[in-house]
Amino acid sequence: MKRIEIAGGGLAGLSLGIALRKRGVPVLVREAGSYPRHKVCGEFVNGVTFTTLKNLGIAGIFENALRHSRTRWWIGACEVLDAEMARPALGMSRWEMDELLRDLFLAEGGELQVGDRVAREARQGRVWTAGRRLEKESQWLGLKGHFEKVPLKGGLEMHIGDGGYVGLTPIAEDGGRVNVCGLFKRRSLRGENLTVSYLRACGLGKLAERLEDGVLDEASVTGVSGFHLGAQRVEEELCSLGDAERMIPPFTGNGMSMAFESAECALESLVSYAGGGDWDRCREEIRAALEKRFKRRVAFALGLHGFLMTGAGRAGLSLAARSGVLPFHWLQRQLS
Ligand SMILES: Cc1cc2nc3c(=O)[nH]c(=O)nc-3n(C[C@H](O)[C@H](O)[C@H](O)COP(=O)(O)OP(=O)(O)OC[C@H]3O[C@@H](n4cnc5c(N)ncnc54)[C@H](O)[C@@H]3O)c2cc1C
Repeated sequence: MKRIEIAGGGLAGLSLGIALRKRGVPVLVREAGSYPRHKVCGEFVNGVTFTTLKNLGIAGIFENALRHSRTRWWIGACEVLDAEMARPALGMSRWEMDELLRDLFLAEGGELQVGDRVAREARQGRVWTAGRRLEKESQWLGLKGHFEKVPLKGGLEMHIGDGGYVGLTPIAEDGGRVNVCGLFKRRSLRGENLTVSYLRACGLGKLAERLEDGVLDEASVTGVSGFHLGAQRVEEELCSLGDAERMIPPFTGNGMSMAFESAECALESLVSYAGGGDWDRCREEIRAALEKRFKRRVAFALGLHGFLMTGAGRAGLSLAARSGVLPFHWLQRQLS
């Protein structure tokens, strides 16, 4: 069997590697960083099905994940929504998730090279799962940190402000540790706690005060900028999956699910290639499968994201939610 080389050992790369190993395919994952590591992420997986996780052979990893079945939304200081999730979201820190996936990949006989940054080049048998493409002109900044002593109000909290939104997710059973992760339009702000500065600038002062009363785990603080949402610029010859192929706006909590789903989309074509199939055909099949699965979902999410970024959009959402006409479950289905 031919070996598959995977560039990028994040969620798409490792889950694909595990699934291929379970089908007897030799796999090398080349990862630029190391494990465990904190990543900018809201740390809840929304939308992924048990069937997908089982198909990839990674369902066991989520046995002990938290199950979040409620979500509450605020626009500014005003609570606008308290709703049951259509399907519980899975809660786990990226520190834990990426490491568990790495361990499973190695246990399945996968080969892993860490500290190995791969040049962005297409090759037969190479799958590109190296995450979002660097875009210097980007307007976005993602920030994340773990806090203790920030009591939650129940369920997944989403706070939407002027030029950004932030999610609060419990990452321990007792709710003692909370992940705070936001996406903001970049501004020239400084401060010891940048998330707090951004919250104030977005008109989310009450939430900023709550965080200031808590204790920030400095080691967990991470930030990311220089990316575009939506389809990424991908060279014709490159076989890319996950964020490297397209990025859904983070408020959906669906990016990790898409990383797993994209691995699932690519699986059978890669197994056929490894068994002697044609590489160009394999690449084309994967590209078509991704387009079919994600095009509508990501376009819809981008539309809503744009809506949330305008004052009129937020006012409309607030009005619809408070008067009980917001089709929350329908929206959730479109976004996962
Ligand atoms: C602010 C923010 C909040 C988010 N919140 C959520 C959320 O709550 N729920 C959710 O589901 N999703 C969320 N996401 C999205 C989610 O984090 C991503 O969709 C997901 O991590 C994509 O997985 P991936 O495997 O494609 O990429 P990644 O997880 O980014 O993995 C890519 C890997 O490739 C490695 N790499 C990079 N370059 C190279 C190279 N040249 N050679 C080798 N290795 C390389 C990196 O080190 C990394 O390990 C959020 C994103 C942002 C920005």
